[in-house]
Amino acid sequence: MKTAIISGASRGIGKAIASALAKQGYAIIINYLNSEDQAELLCAKIRSSGAVAQTYKADMSSPDEIKAMTDYVKECYGTIDLIVANAAIGSYGLLIDHSDSNIAQVISTDLIGVITLCREGAKAMLSQKSGNIITISSMWGEVGGSCESVYSAAKGGVIAFSKALAKELAPNGIRVNCVSPGFIDTDINANLSDADKAALVSEIPLGRAGTPEDVADAVVWLSDDKSSYITGQVISVNGGLII
Ligand code: NAD
Repeated sequence: MKTAIISGASRGIGKAIASALAKQGYAIIINYLNSEDQAELLCAKIRSSGAVAQTYKADMSSPDEIKAMTDYVKECYGTIDLIVANAAIGSYGLLIDHSDSNIAQVISTDLIGVITLCREGAKAMLSQKSGNIITISSMWGEVGGSCESVYSAAKGGVIAFSKALAKELAPNGIRVNCVSPGFIDTDINANLSDADKAALVSEIPLGRAGTPEDVADAVVWLSDDKSSYITGQVISVNGGLII
């Protein structure tokens, strides 16, 4: 059975990805940081459908905890077949109001955490001679978001990193792609008022906010052999908000 590690999978987009990949037959490692109850609930739901799942608590801003998680999965399951580097934190506000620790936290979670998780996954995948990596960026990583400069920097970094890693790993048959969501109504947007959300939606050509399942559908396609000739790409899931 193939294994998939999904970081930040207890809620939102990560949760939808975990549920969708379980239906594809992956054994799911639900990584979480704080939301143990939500992670366990999701795990129980996936198991009740007959699929294999377990939770794993690890802080994606800690290289040591990431390594411990990937070592554990290799030890228990034998292989790491799919990594979905999804965990991230938002950071909204003027750059001049960001403290050193704000900046470090965002970059260490949203960029260095992704790089470290992919590196540890790649080690296993290179020895297996197979694997698939999907990173989650953001439309702000493509075009930059005002008052989200640090987050945009991290997410832009994820895109450049994913393209570079795709080139590096392709000769070994390992694909790396990036999914770049637009406005998806999840907790990460809790800072937005209903009026802000309505204003954003009014700018979306397809006329609605995205759902976590919209993003999960793209991840499922990239995880499948039906996309076996696709690597190094950024798949934008944004209803046409940026084109
Ligand atoms: P969310 O806040 O609901 O989910 C983020 C998840 O990451 C949470 O489960 C959180 O606990 C986890 N996480 C954060 N820091 C962590 C850490 N240090 N270690 C482990 N887990 C950690 O938001 P979401 O919308 O589901 O976000 C999922 C991904 O989609 C993120 O990469 C986000 O940047 C990206 N994204 C979201 C949107 C959107 O509009 N919702 C748009 C573009 C990109």
